[in-house]
Amino acid sequence: MDIIELRHDFPILQREVYGKPLVYLDNAATTQKPRCVVEKIDEMYFTLNSNVHRGVHFLSQEATQAHENARKTVQKFIGAASESEIVFTRGTTESINLVASSFCRAFCKEDDEILITAMEHHSNIVPWQLQADIRGVKLRVAPINSRGELLLDEFEKKISPRTKLISVTHISNVLGTINPIDEIIRIAHEHDIPVLIDAAQSVQHIGVNVQQLDCDFLVFSSHKIYGPTGVGVLYGKEKWLNAMPPYQGGGEMIANVSFEKTTYNEIPFKFEAGTPDFVGTTGLASALDYVAGLGIDNIAAYEKELLDYATERLSSMDGMRIFGEAQNKSSVLSFLVKDIHPYDVGTLLDKMGIAVRTGHHCAEPLMNFFGVPGTVRASFAFYNTRGEIDLLANAIERIVKMF
Ligand code: PLP
Repeated sequence: MDIIELRHDFPILQREVYGKPLVYLDNAATTQKPRCVVEKIDEMYFTLNSNVHRGVHFLSQEATQAHENARKTVQKFIGAASESEIVFTRGTTESINLVASSFCRAFCKEDDEILITAMEHHSNIVPWQLQADIRGVKLRVAPINSRGELLLDEFEKKISPRTKLISVTHISNVLGTINPIDEIIRIAHEHDIPVLIDAAQSVQHIGVNVQQLDCDFLVFSSHKIYGPTGVGVLYGKEKWLNAMPPYQGGGEMIANVSFEKTTYNEIPFKFEAGTPDFVGTTGLASALDYVAGLGIDNIAAYEKELLDYATERLSSMDGMRIFGEAQNKSSVLSFLVKDIHPYDVGTLLDKMGIAVRTGHHCAEPLMNFFGVPGTVRASFAFYNTRGEIDLLANAIERIVKMF
């Protein structure tokens, strides 16, 4: 990949902040958008805008076609068996809430258990806690070691006859740990337990294939894979989606409505109440085509190089603590340096044009595990360069001197 050339696809990367060239290292929070995605959104509004699924007229049919083609693109991108297994949502968070609400309504009773890990994002904790409030399900948490790796033996010991679902992140947004999801899914299925994979941090870095993985559910957000905000994906095996009740009621999710009784549409529409973000879904499809064009293996290999280089540069600094030293790791570097507050590091880096994230990264239990209030997180995308990592390292050295 010619990174310098590719960067021209992302106009925002050319801008300056505080008179300095922007160094964007907050990709785990959201990624920048290539020109083709923004142009696709423009094209949709300028030439195709019309509500989908409901109109007999030309524009509505074309918009519907574009939206349903986007579903096919997602299906292909994640290797799903059928496009009816692709539900469009607002993002990872909504996808998990949908499964938590519908799956638990169908299959869980008081004291049934949901198993997660100690490195989950709040979006894979709180939806299950809501179900704990509503129907008394219990949350069980598999521990990690100090390198930020899941303890697989302990994970297996947490499985009980009451475990109804296992919901784990593929890649930790704080530690970068790549979880052994093949093993997790194999173990879960030996116990006849379905698995949800939170792929918010993996589809864009290492890719996924849901049929090869044999996962039961998989979720991700468009905005983290170079697509527009406000769109997400829930993949679910047909047998589960068919067996689960609708999440929300309204237009498009119905077959027939009367005041006495409503019957529901087939999947995936049963889970898509109201006008979908058909502009967003086509934007997402354009982003997925762009990523597929680069090749996820090329992206993974380049980002691994970047991570190794950044790890080498930062770990050699005096007083540096890196959080997340898993053997198998992707694109995220969380750290603290000396006893400088992460917020101070983040604010000073910002003034030098470098965008990183500071705080608990929506993973407070994980911060508690490490006994810190927060970290500084640099997260990489394929458009980042070694030169930018040098700028980050030099800036941190400057900040240390200031303190
Ligand atoms: N899960 C993980 C691992 C994440 O990193 C994030 C976002 O940072 C989410 C879930 C939530 O994603 P969203 O806010 O797009 O719904």
